[in-house]
Amino acid sequence: MMAADSARTSPTREWTIRAATDRADVFFLMRQQHHYFGDEYAANRLPRELAELLGWPDEDADGRPLDALGLVAAHGEVAVGGAFATIDTHDVTVEMLPDGPFSNAALAGERNGWLRLNVVDPAWRGRGIGHALFDARLDWLAARDPDMVFAFGWERDAGRSSRPLFEAHEFTPIHTFERYYARGKHPRDSCPDCGAWPSNDADCQCATTLWALDSADLQRIATRQTRQTTSDCYEADQ
Ligand SMILES: [Zn+2]
Repeated sequence: MMAADSARTSPTREWTIRAATDRADVFFLMRQQHHYFGDEYAANRLPRELAELLGWPDEDADGRPLDALGLVAAHGEVAVGGAFATIDTHDVTVEMLPDGPFSNAALAGERNGWLRLNVVDPAWRGRGIGHALFDARLDWLAARDPDMVFAFGWERDAGRSSRPLFEAHEFTPIHTFERYYARGKHPRDSCPDCGAWPSNDADCQCATTLWALDSADLQRIATRQTRQTTSDCYEADQ
């Protein structure tokens, strides 16, 4: 009771968004990736798209993003949400696109924006943070003018999905992949939605939708004076 009372009288919960440029911010994004998607996490290692944020060039230059943006939403010193985006080559994008009823090579442009992880701490949801992280990345991408923008939208059974946010920004759903995260060489064994955890030997059974936006639509949407306001039900996505 005491804890609940003191929480209710806490000062206004303000938040700001900043670029993730230092080690603490980038490793915060890595831990979120680990928590929501079970990606491998080691104290001093980063996947290539996050390594790029710190200027740690990957030995394998072929797979490096052309550009990368990390964002952290913070309340004072405390990180309460985060997101990142990349611009990737045609070849990397063809690799990132799953096998589906479309041609990966035809779908991918020469330069491709990717909306990656987007997370908001459960205690901070419903305040527009996810929407702000989404819009900030669209603005960043629009300034770099990729041929296409892609994102995977986690279809959650228990939680709210990112679908309304993609629809409001006129993304096209290319295909929904059932049990997407259980496929492949590294099935996701950590999912806060369907209860898969490394300790219970279950793999995530959730579906994902591949969303796409072309260059002309990106420019039109990013320069809209007032974006359509949606419920900010964009909490955790990759
Ligand atoms: Zn799941």
